[in-house]
Amino acid sequence: MPFDEPKEECGVIGIYAPGEDVARLTFFGLYALQHRGQESAGIAASDGTGVRVHTRMGLVNTAFSEHDLRTLVGHIAIGHTRYSTTGSSREINAGPFVATSEHGTIAVAHNGNLINSDALRSELMERGVSLVSSTDTEPLAWMIALSQGPDIATRVRQAMLRFSGAYSLAILTRDALVGVRDPLGIRPLCLGRLGNGWVLASETCALATIGATFEREIDPGEIVVIDEHGIRSFAAPEQPDRQATCIFEMIYFARPDSEMMGKRLHLARQRMGAELWREHPADADLVIPLPDSAVPAAIGYARASGIPYAEGLIKNRYIGRTFIQPDQRLREQGVKLKFNALPEILEGKRVVLVDDTIVRGTTSRPIVELLKQNGAREVHMRVHAPPIMWPCYYGVDMARREELIAANRSVEEIGETIGADSIGYLSLEGLIRAIDLPAGRFCTACLTGRYPIPARVEVAKLSFEPAANGRESALLTPGRIGH
Ligand code: SF4
Repeated sequence: MPFDEPKEECGVIGIYAPGEDVARLTFFGLYALQHRGQESAGIAASDGTGVRVHTRMGLVNTAFSEHDLRTLVGHIAIGHTRYSTTGSSREINAGPFVATSEHGTIAVAHNGNLINSDALRSELMERGVSLVSSTDTEPLAWMIALSQGPDIATRVRQAMLRFSGAYSLAILTRDALVGVRDPLGIRPLCLGRLGNGWVLASETCALATIGATFEREIDPGEIVVIDEHGIRSFAAPEQPDRQATCIFEMIYFARPDSEMMGKRLHLARQRMGAELWREHPADADLVIPLPDSAVPAAIGYARASGIPYAEGLIKNRYIGRTFIQPDQRLREQGVKLKFNALPEILEGKRVVLVDDTIVRGTTSRPIVELLKQNGAREVHMRVHAPPIMWPCYYGVDMARREELIAANRSVEEIGETIGADSIGYLSLEGLIRAIDLPAGRFCTACLTGRYPIPARVEVAKLSFEPAANGRESALLTPGRIGH
């Protein structure tokens, strides 16, 4: 059942730690990154002699067995949780991706989206590479594998000249772990210390989970190579003088306990809630969040306003993504599959409902109705981000422009459409004040239409789907070993 929220595209992790069971640590690190992708999970590992990879559909806890982890031997591992933004949700598209050339085998876990992957695919197919998936990560991996140069850093730098878009990468070679962040730093990537080893992860929450300590963020355009010689850093071959980190990482995607750009996100989101109150006060009895992601902002709104905070909606935290279609009766239940209301809390109350985004608006109306059916006298919708007006080309499944409710309606019309008694969105200025960093460090394209990389073509999510032509036979099977 699709819910109306932007979908993050992936989480990545990489560990280099001689003497540690790195596949097991990677598994638990992926647990902490589960919110970044729930469709498939995978781990690749190397013991210095070969690269093994295991991928499977589903959540991290169902994708690996004890036996799978035991086969992933070695002191270097990378892991990936996936939500599909390019390519469908099928096992053939699950990461990490493996590519083998005369330089050896590499495995790549990718968070982001290349906007020129169609050109890369065509070039690779002309060069005789048989691509088995419909993702943008597989051509990315092959471009790195086929680049020339004496060492992995040189080859990655050469491949980066061909990449356009968002990419935070954890790359495994037979004897090294490599971290890469695109020159604009659109997606996050951080570095942690684990005993004598090192960890790369999309978010700091994964470091804490496995007992690693946060060292620093990988800089935009930075390449780090970690091997028996230690850690070395290299600059991108071409580096713009600006950053464009996705502002939705601060608003919604990253876990609130993660630290990003020097800010603890739970606290930044509380400040968003406080700014929201200043910009859009409401005469109300209760502030409730749309759980779980809007909890910090609702706390901030409640504290700033003096209106009591309460939980009025309870979320089924285990629903995840299901591909089992509900029958007609359940479909009519709509949001009740995910949220139940607490009538004793809501009865007779004027409620401020804090949410982080409204994308299509398809679930906001049923939620407002649910609150009113359970006794809320008024529902005042408050959103702690500006309206989403434009699609994302950098790895977030937002929707097409014609589907975005704010691209087609005024704020007042949105309020009427969803049945709220009033509505208010946080302004971009208020959002930037709450984050407390310069606006120029962020991508705000879906809010402003100002794209940091010109999106010349809209790459449809399924545009590289193979016909049923037997290419699946080349699928890497669990535990397959590369060289
Ligand atoms: Fe993030 Fe929006 Fe930019 Fe996409 S367009 S990277 S969702 S800020």
